Amino acid sequence: MSIRDVIIVGSGPAGYTAAIYTARAGLKPLVFESSIASGGALMNTTDIENFPGFPEGLPGPELMGRMREQAARFGAELIADDVTALELGGNIKIVRDSEGNEYQARTVILATGSGYRNLGLASEQSFVGKGLSWCATCDGFFYRGKSIAVVGGGDSAIEEATFLTRFADKVTLIHRRDTFRASKIMVERLEKDEKIELALNCEIVSLNGSPKLESLTLRDVNTGETRRLPVAGLFEAIGHTPRSELVEGQVDLIEGGYVKTAPDGTATNIPGVFACGDLVDHVYRQAINAAASGCRAALDAERYLLGVI
Ligand code: NAP
Repeated sequence: MSIRDVIIVGSGPAGYTAAIYTARAGLKPLVFESSIASGGALMNTTDIENFPGFPEGLPGPELMGRMREQAARFGAELIADDVTALELGGNIKIVRDSEGNEYQARTVILATGSGYRNLGLASEQSFVGKGLSWCATCDGFFYRGKSIAVVGGGDSAIEEATFLTRFADKVTLIHRRDTFRASKIMVERLEKDEKIELALNCEIVSLNGSPKLESLTLRDVNTGETRRLPVAGLFEAIGHTPRSELVEGQVDLIEGGYVKTAPDGTATNIPGVFACGDLVDHVYRQAINAAASGCRAALDAERYLLGVI
């Protein structure tokens, strides 16, 4: 079995950017793209209007398709499969796929991203891209002049609600308690915003409409009473879960399950193992940042292979 220079796990903007850079450096990267869908979270985004270089905007799948094509053009080998096990401790890293095939590499770049937490309602899936979103920066623009809702009580929810008032006429912030997890300054900002209405002690029971979202059914957690809230959009901001299960117990993680990297780079606690994208980033979570950190991971892996770091 040949020992590769680099294996990349994940195919969002971080993984593909790492693939483009390592491929252009002649490292012939092997990329595990996932068995379900390559491209990561942006495959669920209708239009991306803030990725530099595309003034007209473009659909998420198209952006990811272009990154994929660019990686392949420079010789990255793309595999539509999941990595199911990693042994990262030695100088030669072992990677196993879902069929039990074993691959070996001197470096591994982890780019498995994070998943937006969802409410877990049966009615949720049918409204993805039809009124249900996890990204105000991506999709807020489409709700100009409409009534929409945000669910969550942390900094993200308040940030999203406040941001969305630039477009929407009314934003209802739905939170399951009557106190916020968010920082004080964010709550103060929220309370001053006349376009935001609060629905506290409320949980969402169902999303309604056909085919697009038209209303939410809310239940008061104290009284059990239900009511309908007409909305054209719902933004879920109830936290993120980094996809770090695969490396848990081997690679150091920080609170929340994000992979810990060196402050000045993408190196993990294991020599030859680098991490990038939303697997690491608990602050910015934008495609452009993920792509940039994929570039950094590629350059770090290259320097490691040269013995510079
Ligand atoms: P978070 O702090 O974990 O808050 C998640 C919120 O969602 C909580 O209010 C939680 O309710 C609620 N929630 C969780 N599961 C739910 C469910 N199934 N149904 C209904 N509500 C649910 O997540 P975050 O707001 O994304 O923030 C993550 C980190 O990033 C935090 O450290 C935050 O400070 C930071 N951040 C900072 C900024 C900023 O400073 N500008 C902006 C965004 C994020 P409970 O409170 O009842 O648990």
